Amino acid sequence: MTIDECLVFGKSHCHSAHAKILLAEFLNQNPLELYNHLEEIVPEEKEEQYKKAVLALEEGKPLQYVLQKVNFYGNSFYVDERVLIPRFETEELVEHTIEYIKKYWTTPVDIVDLGCGSGVIGLTLEKKVSTNSVDLIDISKQALEVTKINKERLTSNANLIENDMLENQVKKYDVIISNPPYIKDSEEVEQIVKENEPSIALYAGEDGLDCYRKILNHVKENLKERALIAFEIGKDQAQAITELVKENLDGVRIEVKKDLSERDRMMFIFKNLE
Ligand code: GLN
Repeated sequence: MTIDECLVFGKSHCHSAHAKILLAEFLNQNPLELYNHLEEIVPEEKEEQYKKAVLALEEGKPLQYVLQKVNFYGNSFYVDERVLIPRFETEELVEHTIEYIKKYWTTPVDIVDLGCGSGVIGLTLEKKVSTNSVDLIDISKQALEVTKINKERLTSNANLIENDMLENQVKKYDVIISNPPYIKDSEEVEQIVKENEPSIALYAGEDGLDCYRKILNHVKENLKERALIAFEIGKDQAQAITELVKENLDGVRIEVKKDLSERDRMMFIFKNLE
């Protein structure tokens, strides 16, 4: 098949923009470049890969899983069905956290990313700020297999730990960051999410707060004298999580931040950081 014929095939099964992205990906080309080579023959093996991918998209598989990659904060990460697809809001969480670390610390920090999934948060922070150690914790063995792929891709020194949040962990951190599951068990989510992404990465009990509860119950012993906790949160959860923080930590300052869509989506908890 020629490039042109491949694109025609793609268009008949999925969105033409997606067909273009997929073909360009398999041919290692810029999507716009394809139009300069429409008559070129696509090698058979690439054609097969491409057709398979187009049909997977048609069946409702998310583009990121089909491509097995996602760009997060300027780096390319491997993803598949074993982990949540990193979201744009999480880049905002990382962005603010980088600012705060640079503002409050002049020495390398000890960081832990709880429920690390693909590892995007912790691995990005490791690249962007000066770290003493980066621990990536997840309860899912399968997710940690993906974390490991990304650790190697980004030539990182992070420690991968299979654990339920901070349970039985004694280490003290400067920065604890997490984008935990926070959807209520009964909440409706988009079909493409529900049918493809791991439910363990999405749902967190009747009120969606189970993971924050679990983290905050233990967190006191894992904070250094000066410390920052950074959470991604659901848009209606700021008040309830503030209560949980107050029940578990004295004398901390709490800041809720809105995402670009003006929803309360991040919480920063400052211990002895003024
Ligand atoms: N930390 C990963 C992310 O933000 C995974 C989060 C999760 O599985 N809930 O993409």
